[in-house]
Amino acid sequence: MNFCLTGKVLLPDTILDPGFVHIRDGLIHAVTTAAPTGLPLTAAPWVSPGFLDIHVHGGAGADYMDGTPAAVITANRAHLRHGATTVLPTTTTGSPAELTAMLQACQQVAAQWTPSHGARLPGIHFYGPYFAPEKVGCHSPAGQRSPVPAEYEAFLATGFLRVATCAAELPGALDFYRAAAAHGCLVTCGHSNATWTQMEAAFTAGMRHVDHFWCAMSSVASLRSTYGTPMQASMEQFVLATPDMSTEVIADGQHLSPELLRFAWQMLGPRRLCLVTDANRALDMPPGTYRFGHHTTGSWFESNGEVGFVPGQGLASSVCGLDHMVRQMVAAGVPLVDAIRMASLTPAERTGLAHDRGSLTPGKLADILLLNDDLTLRSVYLAGNLVHW
Ligand SMILES: [Zn+2]
Ligand SMILES: [Zn+2]
Repeated sequence: MNFCLTGKVLLPDTILDPGFVHIRDGLIHAVTTAAPTGLPLTAAPWVSPGFLDIHVHGGAGADYMDGTPAAVITANRAHLRHGATTVLPTTTTGSPAELTAMLQACQQVAAQWTPSHGARLPGIHFYGPYFAPEKVGCHSPAGQRSPVPAEYEAFLATGFLRVATCAAELPGALDFYRAAAAHGCLVTCGHSNATWTQMEAAFTAGMRHVDHFWCAMSSVASLRSTYGTPMQASMEQFVLATPDMSTEVIADGQHLSPELLRFAWQMLGPRRLCLVTDANRALDMPPGTYRFGHHTTGSWFESNGEVGFVPGQGLASSVCGLDHMVRQMVAAGVPLVDAIRMASLTPAERTGLAHDRGSLTPGKLADILLLNDDLTLRSVYLAGNLVHW
């Protein structure tokens, strides 16, 4: 079916006002400033590329670690309703059997994917279990361990890992980074208390990204309390100082204040910063107590409807979608065109998916959002199909 979407069109570096996005056979056929003749036209205030979430654990009651195709579809439908047309389901700490079940469930859904299954899933983010013991955060500590080739080689061999995380200071981390880079993963350091020196070694081994900036990572203060003086530079300084490094923020307004969100964008620019939800199963669920990770072995946390937390300990990831994150960035003073880029093209570029998604570019998939003036979601198109829910 051929048709056209019109409004202020959000391109990676500019806005076409008005612009016209021509869709043909599920792909973006053309983007023009002149109205087409003879095509059905749908108008909205804003036309945006669909979002990509490279760090997401679940939603609508399901965690990807539940390890069933039904859980994957439930979470992917939930995130599609928040504008994510592509997700990389993200592991937590867990047993080898739980990780295998999660990976296989995602592969199964991907193999039979249709728009009715929710967001596309071109791979997963292998996140837990290789975390530093003192930076496990809200994940189950029982599932934390150091990387060993006997475990991770089998996961990498599936070719379904797009992002691979490991704390840089763990024994075996550098071998893991080299192996993951050789398999084409975006290699990332997270849940880590790494020093600058450890980050330099990690970078040489292929590490190029840090998970959820300022959360569960080293700081000058954390390194001082571990190693004393002279104070040392941390993951934060390494990312800011290294042009080839990218990172991500949980922009729910609960994890980071507006000035930190704006600071991250000012320092890194929209090409090195991704918006992620890091959402858990409590997204779109009532306040209450939930498991983070697998539904029988995951750790407990509470959701108050605005954020996940462990009473007396700290935050336990977000309960918001990417549409909310974009609005929070704009409220923090970031230009809309940059906020959209950080939720679409930048995560696509960093994970090797920009050839067919991430921007309103002719030839790419017609995964498109229509937004209202207040940036709430009006409608979602997947492969040119209007999504109904
Ligand atoms: Zn985390
Ligand atoms: Zn996470």
